[in-house]
Amino acid sequence: MVVDATRELPAGYTPVLDEIFSTGHYLDSRVTPYYEAMYKAAKQDGVTLTPFSAYRSVARQQISLDSLVNAYIAEGYSREKAQAMAEKQILPPGTSEHSLGLCVDIIETDTDFDTTRAFRWLQKHAHEYGFILRYPKDKEAVTGIVYEPWHWRFVGTDLAPKIRKSGLTLEEYLQQNGYLF
Ligand SMILES: [Zn+2]
Repeated sequence: MVVDATRELPAGYTPVLDEIFSTGHYLDSRVTPYYEAMYKAAKQDGVTLTPFSAYRSVARQQISLDSLVNAYIAEGYSREKAQAMAEKQILPPGTSEHSLGLCVDIIETDTDFDTTRAFRWLQKHAHEYGFILRYPKDKEAVTGIVYEPWHWRFVGTDLAPKIRKSGLTLEEYLQQNGYLF
């Protein structure tokens, strides 16, 4: 399922969740074992893929967005302007892939993450565990999201190697293969 600004999460969608080890971070229970397997494999190569943020509920996304809007209003911006500014940083509830429970921000949310060993490990191996880089560089026009080297999305171990090989984004790949319109 693709969720973005133009394809909102179905109302009331709540995945069954499982915790990633004892990290306090949760993923869709179908995905957690894959992340844990990836984590263990990376660890053996001396790389620690600590989850930074995984599942986020729609309600929690709303709270984060509201508090940022209020912070801007407190700084003197109009409600409209504050809302627009906040939505550039926090996706409106129902449009974040994190509410699917199928993606993880790994280690940190910093574009410099792509210079790390952890990132290079993910580029080489994440697809073996069903994960793809969801928001690649120079694909902002397609995904509607800026380059996020830390954000890895589970698409399954069948699809991930194919998408990686194609060089396409998830939505481009699904469109070209007739799964998404
Ligand atoms: Zn993310």
